Amino acid sequence: MKAKFFIRFLAGTVFLLLFTFQIVYSDENPVRIPDDIRPETKDYYTYCMSHRDYGIDIYELNGHKFISDLDENEFQVEVKPSCNFSRRLNDTDIRGVVIHYTNGSSQSAWSWWQNQYPGTSAHYIINRNGSIIQAVPEIYAAYHIGCYWSDEFCGNCPNELCSNNGYFYDPEETTIAIELENAGPVFPEDGRYTDIFHNPTPEDAEIFLYDGSDPLYHASRFYEAFSEIQLTTLEKLLVDLEQRYGNLIVLGHSDIHQVSVDPGPAFPKTKFFTGNTD
Ligand SMILES: [Zn+2]
Repeated sequence: MKAKFFIRFLAGTVFLLLFTFQIVYSDENPVRIPDDIRPETKDYYTYCMSHRDYGIDIYELNGHKFISDLDENEFQVEVKPSCNFSRRLNDTDIRGVVIHYTNGSSQSAWSWWQNQYPGTSAHYIINRNGSIIQAVPEIYAAYHIGCYWSDEFCGNCPNELCSNNGYFYDPEETTIAIELENAGPVFPEDGRYTDIFHNPTPEDAEIFLYDGSDPLYHASRFYEAFSEIQLTTLEKLLVDLEQRYGNLIVLGHSDIHQVSVDPGPAFPKTKFFTGNTD
C-alpha cells in the first residue's frame, strides 16, 4: 500500500511540475493581446512583445508585417517592421507630428531600428525619391525623441504635446514620427560631400549652404537639401494624418529635445511647422 501511495504521490508531483512548467514556459501565446488590436497586426504585436526582452530575430520579424495605415493607392508605401514601440497610454491621443532627418540612408535607419538596442524607431521614413517606409503602426508610440518622461532635455515641448494636468507627459505618447532620408550636415571631402559617418551623399543630392546664423547648427556650413518630391510627399502625408486625427502640431525634433538639431537649417520650417518654434 505504501509503495502504491508513494508512486501516486510521485506521479502527482511530476504532473504538477510539468503543468507549472507548461504555464510558465509555454510559448503558446504568452502575451496578453489587447482586445482592440487590429487582427492584421496581432502576430506582429505578439512577436515583438514576446521577443524583445531576449533578442529579436530580424528574419522572423520581417515575416510579421502589418498593414500600413496609409492607403496604398495614394502612397507608395512599404512596411519594414520594428519592435521598438509601446502601446500609447491613450490610443486616440495623437496631437502632433515630429519631423526628423535620418543622418544617412533610409536603409541604415530602418535596419538600425530592427535591432532591439538602442531601441529607436519612427513611424515613417520618406525616402529621397518620395516613397515611404512604415516601421511602426500609428496606434503605437515610436521611440523617436528621448525625453524619457522628463523635462530635463525637453523643457521646450509645447503643453499641447507634453503636459497632462501640469505634469510632464512624454511627447512620444502624443506624436507621429516622420523621418526624412537626408544626410544632415555634410563636409567637402575629395571633391564630394560626405556625411558624419564619412559616407558620400548621393551624386544628385543638392547641397544647402547654411549662413551660420544659428549656433544650433554649428556642425557644418553645408547641409543636404531635401528633395522636392520628398517635401511634396511630406505635405501629402500631413494632410492625410490631419484628415484622420484633426489639426496637428507639426514641429522638429530640435524644437522639443534641446540637444537635437534635426531636421536642421535646410528644412523649410515656415512652410510646415505649425507649433511655436521659438
Ligand atoms: Zn530626430
